[in-house]
Amino acid sequence: KNVAYQKVKPNKHLKIFINPNSGTGKAVKIFEKEVKPIFDAAGCKCDIVVTNGRDDAKRKIIEASDLQNYDAIVVVSGDGIVHEVVNGLLSRKDESFIKIPIGVIPAGSGNALNVCLHGETINSSMQHSALTIIKGVPMDVDICSITQEDGEYFSFLSQTYGATADCDLRTENLRWIGDSRFTLGVLMAILEGRRYEWEMAIKYSEKNKDIIKQNYKKAYAEQKPKDVSDSEGIVKIERKYGSVNDPIPKDWEILSDDIFAFYSGKLPWVGKGAIPFPCALPNDGLMDVIIVNRDKISRLRAISMMQKIAKGTHIDLEEVDYYKVEAFRLTPKSRDVGYISIDGEK
Ligand code: ADP
Ligand code: MG
Repeated sequence: KNVAYQKVKPNKHLKIFINPNSGTGKAVKIFEKEVKPIFDAAGCKCDIVVTNGRDDAKRKIIEASDLQNYDAIVVVSGDGIVHEVVNGLLSRKDESFIKIPIGVIPAGSGNALNVCLHGETINSSMQHSALTIIKGVPMDVDICSITQEDGEYFSFLSQTYGATADCDLRTENLRWIGDSRFTLGVLMAILEGRRYEWEMAIKYSEKNKDIIKQNYKKAYAEQKPKDVSDSEGIVKIERKYGSVNDPIPKDWEILSDDIFAFYSGKLPWVGKGAIPFPCALPNDGLMDVIIVNRDKISRLRAISMMQKIAKGTHIDLEEVDYYKVEAFRLTPKSRDVGYISIDGEK
């Protein structure tokens, strides 16, 4: 933690994206009232873009010729704009600026990255997030490469299919209730007893929950703060596996029983009060995966599982499979049974 105080760069130059539609639609006001005064007081120079629609932030990142002038990209929105920034950086022709730090002010309805950076105990999270950006010690996060028939996407947070995808994407019309819409969405899926057909090919790294937990505790205890300069500069994009167009490697296992939910994540929290991946490590090169088999779990146990996700103890339920995974290929069996969501985006 001392690194944060020793190496703070004064008068940071920030590229800021505000999504006026995020959360309950107050992002611009939040920024002006609660965040901008703190950046000003710290002598930060802010270049502000109010996004004008889907993929605007992504496009502007791809086209920017001056990213080298900024100390960080700041997102005033939910995880959706973080996703766009990550995808924009990785879609650029040059690979020079993909390690520019990304900071986030949690003005969306899904603010997973922000919760992961601060934990759940911070009350005034807008101001605190502004301070985190000013002090900023960057941390590396693995990025997952996803290929579908229509091209490649990059994911920093999660991929999901089944009830966990529907809870976000089927409740877009309930934005006004804030993040309770996710809980409501999963409850609807449980009560309706939804079932999702798929084929899953999976390259496991570890299947045993106890070993996963032990390894996590060890890795967590050995964590060290990084020098700020470690996280800047040029990195090469390396894809460990092929794409959907390649045959499934022989050492991947195939699953085909219907599921209630599939959830893969890189970071522990997906929102306040929801820590589905309690053993996730942001840069261990692996994804944490939850699979809930449809015929193994009753409605009552599914509701109990929902409650346990608040503390991350759902992984102890015998109905919940929890794995460390290197790669997977997901094939939904019907196109209209449900959504696939990547970082909360359809
Ligand atoms: P939330 O957490 O509230 O969902 P996100 O950051 O995930 O907030 O953004 C939600 C969606 O809004 C993203 O898909 C993004 O592309 C889109 N978006 C960005 N700018 C605008 C805009 N001006 N009007 C409508 N939608 C926008
Ligand atoms: Mg979103």
